[in-house]
Amino acid sequence: MADVLREEQGLTLTDDPEQADVVLINTCSVREKPQEKLFSELGRYKALKRKRPGMKIGVGGCVASQEGAAIGARAPYVDVIFGPQTLHRLPKLLGQSGSGGGPVVDLAFPAEEKFASLPAPRAASPVANLSVMEGCSKFCSFCVVPYTRGEEISRPVADVLSEAIQLERQGVREINLLGQNVNGYRGAAPSGGLEDLAGLIRYVSKLEGIGRIRFTTSHPMEFDGRLIEAYAHTEKLPSYLHLPVQSGSDTVLQRMKRGYTAAEYRSKIERLRRARPGISVASDFIVGFPGETEAEFSQTLALVEDIGFDQSFSFMYSARPGTPAGDMDDPVPQPVKLERLQRLQALINSQAGRLSRNMVHSSQRVLVERRARRGKGLIAGRTGNNRWVNFDGPVSLIGQFVDVAITEALPNSLRGRLLPESLAA
Ligand code: SAM
Ligand code: SF4
Repeated sequence: MADVLREEQGLTLTDDPEQADVVLINTCSVREKPQEKLFSELGRYKALKRKRPGMKIGVGGCVASQEGAAIGARAPYVDVIFGPQTLHRLPKLLGQSGSGGGPVVDLAFPAEEKFASLPAPRAASPVANLSVMEGCSKFCSFCVVPYTRGEEISRPVADVLSEAIQLERQGVREINLLGQNVNGYRGAAPSGGLEDLAGLIRYVSKLEGIGRIRFTTSHPMEFDGRLIEAYAHTEKLPSYLHLPVQSGSDTVLQRMKRGYTAAEYRSKIERLRRARPGISVASDFIVGFPGETEAEFSQTLALVEDIGFDQSFSFMYSARPGTPAGDMDDPVPQPVKLERLQRLQALINSQAGRLSRNMVHSSQRVLVERRARRGKGLIAGRTGNNRWVNFDGPVSLIGQFVDVAITEALPNSLRGRLLPESLAA
């Protein structure tokens, strides 16, 4: 959004809302809390706008997509309401607003048009996100994404590659291929037909300057043999996979309409570990899905132990209006859900802590990303398994891969020592 407004209207970013001509709130509707936060945020900007009536307020993202004009009814001082697929039209929408007829609303789904009209990417760090597909056609029973983001649409390989090359030229060394279900990628191949994610990774891995390729977020159903093979052959794929499982119970998975069983998930991870021994596996979990019993929940804990999941995301189930699960009976009391969430998080944290401690004395390939946030003179980068390491070294190393000996495991990061041999390589 900042790129579009800079390119077309010469606007620059400010952190100070008092200075802003345009205030944009980007929203997420996956869970209820962020949705409620929108209206408390809007209240703050309402007061600012009273002082400076020329200021424009826009609401974008999936809450905008879901609530549409209803946002304007509750907050009539909002000027523009736009969805995830129409952010490229922001300059035009802002221009149309302010005529007194309420907010301008544009929530269409023209995904290809958006990508074609976004300005060239500007790299802000050696690590960049690159959207390769959007939307979701899976319709898990708890999830609002298919309704707010529309059908899965993939960008052609040539477009993705041209963006990757532009990023590489600006010094990007690690690319994170993004999509709601990125392994559902089926983009037009340069030679005709369709390419899947494994094929796309093969193309991107040919770029010499790109040393590491990640992808987020995957669905277990489409985590197939070709991707597992890619781990055997593609060094640029780090030893880390984020593969959301949601639950370890087959009955819950069925009610969630996830399309796989816990045994199928386990077997995919076993195959992956044969292709790439020692790989870290992270996941997403939902606790307290409607009707979840203690026995069902304990199967999730068992899966967490069996797989040895690394740092992961876990959420308490949040009913989303308009989804099938939103209408299910839910006899599980809130305090029980909270207690389960705490037990799950304690288990995952203890496993992740153990994995971090096991890394002490090992040597890790790290892409230096920035000065460390804490610790004078330190620089920081991430290991293949997605852990921040802080270590002593010159800022001239930012943007380079180096080898670091891990000296200490802290709760949220590692400390290390630069191995000078790696600088000669
Ligand atoms: N597409 C990915 C997949 O299939 O797992 C995940 C994308 S989803 C937007 C991100 C995460 O949000 C999910 O993995 C899930 O754990 C969480 N999530 C989605 N809907 C939720 C809900 N209604 N309540 C709580 N967590 C939810
Ligand atoms: Fe939501 Fe992921 Fe399921 Fe799609 S696959 S509906 S994004 S949880």
